[in-house]
Amino acid sequence: MKTCGQCKLEFQIFDEDREFYKKINVPEQIWCPECRTMHRCYEQTIS
Ligand SMILES: [Zn+2]
Repeated sequence: MKTCGQCKLEFQIFDEDREFYKKINVPEQIWCPECRTMHRCYEQTIS
């Protein structure tokens, strides 16, 4: 379990997600999926 850097909620990272982010050279997720959806620009900066 990880704690979201935004809302402090605990969320789960799956191994396949971890592999994916490693592949696109992005550090491990620090935000829960909900916060990531609310901050779309964050994901756009990555891609
Ligand atoms: Zn969050």
